[in-house]
This record gives sequence, C-alpha cells and structure tokens, in this order.
Amino acid sequence: MDISQIETLRRLPVAPARHVIDGALHDASDGQVMQVVSPINGQSLTTLPRGTDADAQAAITSARCAFDDGRWSERSPAERKKVLLKWADLIEAQALELAVLGVRENGTEIAMALKAEPLSAVATIRYYAEAIDKLYGEIAPTAPGTLGLVHREPAGVVGAIVPWNFPLMIGAWKLGPALAAGCSVVLKPAETASLTLLRIAELALDAGLPPGVLNVVTGEGGTVGAAIAESMDVDVLVFTGSGATGRRLLEASARSNLKRVYLELGGKSPNVVFADAPNLDEAVKVTANGIFRNSGQVCIAGTRLLVERSIHDVFVEKLKTFSEAMTVGDPLDPATTAGAVNSQRQLQQNLEFVAEARAAGRKIVTGGTQILQDTGGYYMAPTIVTGVQPTDRLAQHEVFGPVLAVQPFDSEDEAVTLANGTDYGLAAAVWTSNLSRAHRMVRRIRAGIVHVNTYGGSDLTVPLGGVGQSGNGHDKSLHAFDKYLDLKTAWFKL
Ligand code: NAD
Repeated sequence: MDISQIETLRRLPVAPARHVIDGALHDASDGQVMQVVSPINGQSLTTLPRGTDADAQAAITSARCAFDDGRWSERSPAERKKVLLKWADLIEAQALELAVLGVRENGTEIAMALKAEPLSAVATIRYYAEAIDKLYGEIAPTAPGTLGLVHREPAGVVGAIVPWNFPLMIGAWKLGPALAAGCSVVLKPAETASLTLLRIAELALDAGLPPGVLNVVTGEGGTVGAAIAESMDVDVLVFTGSGATGRRLLEASARSNLKRVYLELGGKSPNVVFADAPNLDEAVKVTANGIFRNSGQVCIAGTRLLVERSIHDVFVEKLKTFSEAMTVGDPLDPATTAGAVNSQRQLQQNLEFVAEARAAGRKIVTGGTQILQDTGGYYMAPTIVTGVQPTDRLAQHEVFGPVLAVQPFDSEDEAVTLANGTDYGLAAAVWTSNLSRAHRMVRRIRAGIVHVNTYGGSDLTVPLGGVGQSGNGHDKSLHAFDKYLDLKTAWFKL
C-alpha cells in the first residue's frame, strides 16, 4: 500500500452518495439530502440521501423478495463463499481509498483506520466466508427407531443498524456472518459514517452478490432506523450503538413482530492496575492508548483507571507525561495518534463532562479543552481527571471521548467493587504479575472481555459482546453465526 497517495486522496472531490437498494443506486424518494461535514476541518464533504420511510420500505421489500426466492439463501455454502471471497478481494484492492474516505468522514486517525477499517472488514468477510462451508448440522443421540436431525437455516431478513465509529469494522462484523449464513440485509449506517459502507455495498454487487441481498439506506435513525425496527418483514435486528437507541429497538420489536434484537451497546470499562503490574511503563502506554486513540471513540475504551493507591501518584504522573506527548491532530497524517472528535455535538458533550467534574472539585490533571480551533475541526486534548467518586457522572456514564476518570483502590475486593459499580459490562483489564489474582479478577469482573496485562487488540477468533446494559449477543468468532442461523429440528419415526 502506497501511503504517499494519502495526500492526493484527501483532496479528491466526493460525489453525492446514493442509497444501494435492490442492486441499484437511488436518491431519497423525496430528493432530500443531508450534508456530510468533515470533522477534520468542519467543512462539507458531500451529501447523503436523507432516507425516507418509503426508501426503507423499498429496501426491506427488496431484501424480503431476495430472501424468499432463494437467489442467495438457497445457494450452496460453497457458492456463497466464492462470492464473499471475491468481495473481500475487491475491498482489499481499494483499502487505502476506503480508509481515507472514512477518515475524511469520521476523523479516526489513518494509522488506526487502515487496520481497523477496510483491512479488518476484509479479514472478517474472509473469516465467515471460509467458515460457512465447514459448519455441520447435528444428529441427535435419540432412541432406536427415531432420528433427530438439527438443521441450521438462514434466519431471514436482517436489519443492521451501526454507529459512526469504525463503520466498516462493525458493519463487517454483522455483514460477514449474516451474508455467509444466507440472510438478506438492510443496513442503516450512522448519519456521520455512511460513505464507506455505501462503497462496499457497490463492490458486493461487482463481486456477484445478487441484487437485493445487501441494501444500504442512509438517513436519520428516527426515520430509516425506526422503519427497519418496526418492520413486520425484518426477522432479526442487529445493532451497535447507544443504550438509549437500544431500548427503542426493543420497544419497536415488542410493538411489531417480536423480531429478535441483538444489542452491542456502550461501556464504562475499568482498567485495573495493581502495584505488581509486570511493567509499569508498558501499562502506562497501553492505558493511554486504550482511552485516547480515536479520541476515546471506542466502545471498549478503558475509560476508568482504577489504580492501587501505593502507585497512584507515580502512575498518574507517568500517564500525564505520556498523554501530553501524544500527537493529536490531522487524522490523515500517519504520525497522528489521536484524530478528530466525530462531530461538534460530540465534542460539546465531552467538554460538558469535564466542566461538571471541575465544578465538583475533581482535578483535571491534563487536557480538558478543545484544541486546534484554527483548523475549523473538532479536536480535544487527552484528558485525565483524578479524585473521581464512584457516584460521579464521569464514573457512571459513557463520555465517548478522550476523558479518563481515575480512582484509587486499596484492596482486591475494593477494586472488584469499583470495577463492577456501573450498569455496564463490556470490557475490562487487569494488570498484575500474580497469576492467581489475574484469574480471580477475570472471574469476578462483570464484563464480556477481561484483558490481562494488555488492553484491546483481541482478534476475530474470540467473541465480543457485553453483559448488563452493555447489551446481549456477540459479534466476532463462530458464535456470531448464532444470530443469523436458526435451528430447525427434523424428527423421524423410523
Ligand atoms: P446511536 O445509538 O446514537 O446511533 C447508532 C445508530 O442507531 C445510528 O445508525 C443511528 O442513526 C441509529 N439510530 C438512532 N436513533 C435511532 C432510532 N430511534 N431508531 C433506530 N435507529 C436509530 O449511537 P452512536 O452515537 O452512533 O454510537 C456511539 C455509541 O455506540 C456509544 O454508546 C458506543 O459505546 C456504542 N458502541 C458500541 C460498540 C459495541 O460493540 N458494544 C461498538 C461501537 C460503539
């Protein structure tokens, strides 16, 4: 990959985007558009269709027909695999273009975006394509004279609603297993991260995915997303985003056809550092990256640092030094370690959390401010807040920005109590040289993933999903197929 091309790619005009419905490109039924504002400089990048209810219904009808007539759902797994592998190749061939386009739209630093966006999507699609012709049904251990077969059948039409951070990675976590399983999909990207998902949907058609199997409709959550959630023709709804939207989706399911709803929601993930952490400098570096990369806009970000009191001051001092040396700024510069905040609104929300902490007497050790205003973009300095109390909003609620809340603890029990003291349960980490303690903490912390002596970086082979108000269901790994393949029993009397 020739990253010297970034400078050229960042200047290319971006044509107005269009929905991908039934294998063709469409404007909104009423012609309305929404501006795509780049967080790099606050300027308009292009426009998206402001999808209408009619657009969403057209996409759902297309997906329903495609599923029911078997053009994809009844293809052999080996045939589906072939198309999906071709799709992955086409995405890989355009990885740099896609990464730059995505960064111009959502502000993630390019070094991270390259790995976490197109290349992650490619790996995910290949993983599920390769897996689908190796999944077998079951023969039940029944009594003589009977036979019980357990088939796995594609679950039907999938509605997928995804957020603005990592649209390709999270999108592919849904699309890879859903399409491999034989489902048809209506995908609704976030308002501020739609362009790359539209592009890869076009590439899917080029790869031979039949029309109607993958539809992408852009627009507002309350219109397009709500139409998908309320539809009687959507069988499964998969979602990554905020808890507030997750609740609405569950209500919509209850009001409509009781479609299954799988939610991947937010977190307030604890990063627990014991005094016997094997390498304090490594813990400092990984802790800073675990909250400040992508300006904290990472669902599993380690937003709460719980640090043993005996090393609290020295750890915070090292963390301050490391964080202040991070390069925040132009996300298209490969040297940047934290890019832009996604939107003006998100930046405002981040600053409000800091203002509230300051007003409550908490100490802002570093950061807490908007920076690089002259660019017109949305940038925030990595922010460390100490003295945070367990009931503070900063300890309980997701900021989704580069703001770290620090709390000391004196014992393992206290660390567990603090770690488990929120409604969330997405991710966590424990830093210790004590193997027994590490295992104990993994068991005692309520989270979908507990890292030991690291933070983040888990690969596709393991599931990602939360407990508590961080959601249900899992992306990644073979377990993801459970959402898209229904079990059907055939019972024979022989
Ligand atoms: P959001 O809930 O506002 O939006 C997510 C998606 O839902 C968008 O596509 C949006 O248009 C749509 N939506 C909004 N209102 C809707 C409605 N009424 N009906 C249907 N759809 C609607 O979340 P966001 O701000 O885009 O994303 C940030 C959130 O996502 C954070 O809370 C973050 O933690 C979470 N997240 C979780 C994971 C995970 O795997 N658990 C990963 C990434 C992000």
